Formats: sequence, structure tokens, C-alpha cells
Amino acid sequence: MEILNDNYCSWLKDLEPRKNIKILKTNIQTDWLIIGAGYTGLSAARKLSQIHRNQKIILVDAQLAGEGASGRNSGYLVDSTLNDGFTSNKDLENYKKKTDIYALGIKTVKNFINKYQVECEWNESGKYFASSNFKDKITLTNFSHNLSKLGFENSLLDEKDLSKRLGTNFYKTALYTKGGILLNPGKLSRSMVNALGYNVELYENSPLLNWSRSKDFVICNFQNSQIKTKKIIFATNGFLKSLGIKSNYNFPLTLTASMTRPLNKKEYSDIGNPKEWGVLSVRPMGATVRMTNDKRILIRNTAEVLNPFQMTKTELDKRVVFHKIGIKKRFPQLPNDIIESSWSGVVSRTRNSSQIFEKLDDNVFVAGCYNGSGIGVGTLFGEQIAIKASNETSEEIKIIEKKKKPTWLPPTSFLDIGVKTRLMFERLRSRSDI
Ligand SMILES: Cc1cc2nc3c(=O)[nH]c(=O)nc-3n(C[C@H](O)[C@H](O)[C@H](O)COP(=O)(O)OP(=O)(O)OC[C@H]3O[C@@H](n4cnc5c(N)ncnc54)[C@H](O)[C@@H]3O)c2cc1C
Repeated sequence: MEILNDNYCSWLKDLEPRKNIKILKTNIQTDWLIIGAGYTGLSAARKLSQIHRNQKIILVDAQLAGEGASGRNSGYLVDSTLNDGFTSNKDLENYKKKTDIYALGIKTVKNFINKYQVECEWNESGKYFASSNFKDKITLTNFSHNLSKLGFENSLLDEKDLSKRLGTNFYKTALYTKGGILLNPGKLSRSMVNALGYNVELYENSPLLNWSRSKDFVICNFQNSQIKTKKIIFATNGFLKSLGIKSNYNFPLTLTASMTRPLNKKEYSDIGNPKEWGVLSVRPMGATVRMTNDKRILIRNTAEVLNPFQMTKTELDKRVVFHKIGIKKRFPQLPNDIIESSWSGVVSRTRNSSQIFEKLDDNVFVAGCYNGSGIGVGTLFGEQIAIKASNETSEEIKIIEKKKKPTWLPPTSFLDIGVKTRLMFERLRSRSDI
């Protein structure tokens, strides 16, 4: 199995290239093995190395550590979400449990950043749930009531306010929520690679091909080697299904995004010199759009069920057409050719937007499926699954385990039809906001 993420993402291209990349070549026996080195796996490894100072911990990734979805996302560390794919937030009590987890996620990332003195362009700017359609004001007003009941500071904004704050006349209505952070995801995931403990061995470009359980060990086969481990944590998120993990409870989605070059002084002044901002769409398939602190525009407006392992350049180019249209609709005055990089990334979804945090067997653990909140929740779940796998507990685990479990999904062929139809429907509903 080859996992080929394109390597065009600006967040990652801006980082220093890494040295000392080790590929798995020999057979190893270990106390702990973590598969997947995104926020989840890196955080699990960091925590395990703190708990078990004298044990052997191996972390393996199919590509470069931190350079999957974790290093190439839109950089919203969220305290609240409006659309979690296919469900609405009718059930306030359950929504509260969800936001409790988001709050813990933010706290965990903040602790990490403070402890390791990480610079990742952290900006507590809040965020906008916005729409180009006046009708969505009803949805936003209801959402505003619910958020206020739960104590989240928020305010409804009209076209005029939005034009001033965002530098575009595209949006007609929005809800601004004060909570939520914008950051540079590439810098954050790289800092987690750099923060791995002395007793963590990292192997990259080494995909796990298959795995099985024997009496006291889990046996993992890679191209030229085998790892025999006492305990394993799966942290492969969008690739859980391909490893046969919780297959009937999650499925991968491929997203694509583009980022422009920094706007020049004139271009920036033409749009009113707005401060850094982040917009999430009111409609599930609408665009996520960000103005970064260095005056670049990021847009993510496609989500599809695809083969999770790769997207060819030709396929990516087809999606870039939608990114260009999305930028033009919002900023018609900007030149046509300002996109600097475009990329794809794989995430994981569940039917009811619940995350996976589980012990599958005495020595097999899994965490994943964050539905657009993986920066905070992935970091939290990574640390907490390490605690759970060490047969310890925490207040955080109690809160995580209060949340509903993911619901069962139909077999793949039915699922594909169902999800594709649903995505098509949502895309149609969101077409004005792409
Ligand atoms: C374009 C885009 C925008 C997004 N925007 C946001 C956002 O604004 N805010 C937010 O919170 N979330 C966002 N997300 C989601 C977020 O990035 C993910 O939820 C998060 O990265 C999940 O972290 P993870 O460590 O669980 O998984 P990943 O970062 O996907 O890491 C999993 C790792 O497992 C590895 N792997 C897979 N299979 C194997 C195998 N067989 N053997 C070895 N290794 C394997 C992969 O190479 C990968 O590095 C976005 C995602 C994308 C793609």
C-alpha cells in the first residue's frame, strides 16, 4: 500500500526540510507501537514516553510525520461547530458534551504550546459562520440562541459589518463566535514531531501493510520488516477503514484546498486591510475561507469519497478550478492567477459525528474520526488514548466516554451510494457558497 499525499501544500513547503528520516528495515520487538504520526499519534507517543520512561515506544508513519491531514488542514482550532456533516445539532445536551470535548481539546493544545514554547501563529481571533444567502439568518439565529444558552459569546452580523471585517461583499449574514483559534497547522504538527521524547523511535515512509493478533503480541507487517508489539495504538484517522479498524463505523473523505500568494500592499488595501479572519460555511458543503496573518487567502471547498491513498495532479487540478471560482466570487478585484499551492488531504467521518476512542482488545487501542475538529480533539484523544492504554484513567477520559458512540454504517457498496448521494445533495444545497 502506498500513501502518496501530494507535496504542494504551502503550510508544509514553508517549513525547514527535515533531516534524519528513518525507514523501517529490520524486525523489531517493542513494548508499544503507534501507527500514524499526525496530531493523534504524535500526542499518544509524547504521552506514552512520559508515562513509561523505560519502555520501548515505536511510532511509524506511511509518509512523513505530521505531513498528512495534520500538517495540511485549514488551521481552525474550534470551540463550537455548526455543521458536522450529516446531522444537525437539535439535541442540546449532546451538543454540550461535544463542546466540552472541544474545550478540552483547546486546553490540551494550549498546554502543549506553552510547555514546548511553540510558535504556530496562534490567534484567538474567533471565527465566523457565514452565508451568502439571507435565508440562512434563521439557522444562525437559532444557533446563536443555543450557543448563548451554553455560555458562548456570539453576535449576529449583517452584510455591512461583514464587508468591513472581511473585505468582501459576498457574505450576507453571519454569526461571529468569540471562541476559537486560528493557527498554522504545519508549524503545530512539526513542533509535535520535534517534541517526541528520547525513548520514542520514529520510522517514516514505512506503511503498515497488515496486522494480526497472536497470544501476547500484535504482529505488524511492513514491506521489508515485521514489528512484534505488546500493545498497539492505531492513529491513522482517514486510513482506519483501510486497515480493517472499526470498518463499519467510519469512512474516509478526501478534501482539497488552495492558498494564494500573500496579497501585495495595493491588493490588500483594495479589500480594506482586514485583520486575519476565518469563515466556516453555514452549509455543510460550503467553502471554508481564511485570510491568514501574512495576507494569504486559503480556500477549501471540495469533499468527496475517493480512493484515500492518492489524488493525481490531474485530479487535483480539476478541483483547483472550484477554488479559483470561490476566490473570484469573494474577491472579484484580485488577479486570476494568485493561487500559489493546492493540495488534498484525507479525513475520517462517522455517521453521527461521534469520534472513535476505544479499546478494541486488551492490547489494541484506537482514536480518530474528528469530523473537522481534529486539531484540538486529535491532540486530546492522542494523549488520552495513551493514558487509557496504560490502564490508567483521567477526568478527560470520563468526559470523552460520556459522548455517544459512532453508529453503524451499511456495507461499503451501499455506503458509497448513500454517502455520494448525500454529498451531491449537500453540494447542490451549498452551491452558492462554494
Ligand atoms: C484540507 C483539510 C482541512 C481541514 N481543516 C481542519 C480545521 O480547520 N480544523 C480542524 O480541527 N481539523 C481540520 N481538518 C481535519 C484534521 O486535519 C484532522 O482531523 C487531523 O489531522 C486528524 O489527525 P490524525 O493524527 O488523527 O490523522 P492524520 O493527520 O491523518 O494522521 C494519520 C497518519 O496516519 C498515517 N497512516 C495512514 N495509514 C497508515 C499505514 N497503513 N501505515 C502507517 N501510517 C499510516 C498517515 O500517513 C498519516 O500521517 C482538515 C483536514 C483537511 C484535509
